Amino acid sequence: MERLDGGPRSAVVVGAGVVGLAAAWFLQERGVEVTVVDRTGFAAGASWGNAGWIAPGLAIPLNEPAVLRYGLRSLFDPAAPLHIPLTADPGLWSFLTRFAAHCRWSSWSRVAKANLPLNEESIEAYDVLTANGVEAPTVDAPFTAAFTSARQARTLLRELERLAAAGQPVEHVELSTADLRDQVPLASSALAAGVRIDGQRFVAPGEFVQALGRAVVARGATIRTSVVVGVRADNAGVVVRAKDDVISADAAVVATGAWLPGLAARAGVRTPVRAGRGYSFTVPVRKPVHGPIYLPEARVACTPYQGGLRVAGTMEFRDPDAPLDEARVDAIIASVRPLLDGVRWEDRTDVWVGSRPVTPDGRALIGATRIPGVYVAGGHGMWGLAQGPVTGRLLAEQITTGKQPAALREFDPLR
Ligand SMILES: Cc1cc2nc3c(=O)[nH]c(=O)nc-3n(C[C@H](O)[C@H](O)[C@H](O)COP(=O)(O)OP(=O)(O)OC[C@H]3O[C@@H](n4cnc5c(N)ncnc54)[C@H](O)[C@@H]3O)c2cc1C
Repeated sequence: MERLDGGPRSAVVVGAGVVGLAAAWFLQERGVEVTVVDRTGFAAGASWGNAGWIAPGLAIPLNEPAVLRYGLRSLFDPAAPLHIPLTADPGLWSFLTRFAAHCRWSSWSRVAKANLPLNEESIEAYDVLTANGVEAPTVDAPFTAAFTSARQARTLLRELERLAAAGQPVEHVELSTADLRDQVPLASSALAAGVRIDGQRFVAPGEFVQALGRAVVARGATIRTSVVVGVRADNAGVVVRAKDDVISADAAVVATGAWLPGLAARAGVRTPVRAGRGYSFTVPVRKPVHGPIYLPEARVACTPYQGGLRVAGTMEFRDPDAPLDEARVDAIIASVRPLLDGVRWEDRTDVWVGSRPVTPDGRALIGATRIPGVYVAGGHGMWGLAQGPVTGRLLAEQITTGKQPAALREFDPLR
């Protein structure tokens, strides 16, 4: 049914991760009646065990030229944080070839500039949610990047300079070895230099996204659990076909994270999405942790979580439904153990694998598809938690007004 002003009155959101639920919440804000369908439930995908960083200041595009050299070396090192299985999956190799073609500074700058409007408003979009019924805290604390040498620290400092040159200055301070130890009491003697990054937040991501789901329900959404197999237009709007359900509405949003390709491709979206799988687990610690710790040399992010530390890392290009590989967890521990003292690695819990939805050009897919009334939202890669709420806000604006916000131009799914 169309509203008198022409905007949709009802929408089905497929996927109850941070992106889908944020779209649902902001659609409700604009008076749209929402049904959310997920094959499992709230925060069942990448939105659960990620590092929880709402850190737009560190949202550095992945496609640096150095990634190419690093990726090639990783191919022959099973313990490397980047893992590309030497399989015969032609889709993966074609994706990686496209990704490699974007590992240039010109593409990097394009991604950094495209992300500016998302990064500028990502924390504010969280504040809108928590001020209006999403009952979960966001924590404001300094982030500390720690390095084995001042030379290593310069790599991050140069990246922050590039980000500033692209229009996103990041508040940060270089730390001496002594300052680093004050800031990160867990730092081992192997760590010698640090950079403190201010103005960022963190959350317990699964808990936050579940609270967002509860808020969407409290505002009147219908929740269904089913696997969606198709989305199409019909005379009155759209029809979402699930394995044991058919739902009609005026509009649909496909926000299925790393599982986006199937439904999105049929809607004319040609940019592929691949699962960049990451692992996390929680460990007890013997010293206090004041804020997130970033260990760029190990490519690991650590976040205070439930009195301990959630440790997250690895980028493994594999099927999003493949089982967890314990060897990847062992590789993370082997790389971080020398850098942190007072961590009870043996007592880890919540061992988890989840899939970052990665696009070859580093830009998310947010907006209309070839099927009238069908939209996609996903492909945020490393930064979908931080950018999820602002994505939901901008997409809800596009769906209800029929106009693509300028901030979404670079994310057009039909590019
Ligand atoms: C180890 C790790 C650490 C990370 N750390 C951070 C971080 O600190 N900060 C940050 O900003 N980002 C981080 N990320 C990235 C972030 O987690 C993702 O970008 C984000 O969660 C993607 O959200 P989403 O809603 O698009 O997808 P998901 O959360 O994966 O949600 C997709 C949903 O779709 C459902 N679904 C799939 N197919 C179907 C279907 N056919 N029918 C119905 N439902 C379906 C799934 O069940 C799932 O619930 C990290 C990721 C990993 C893996």
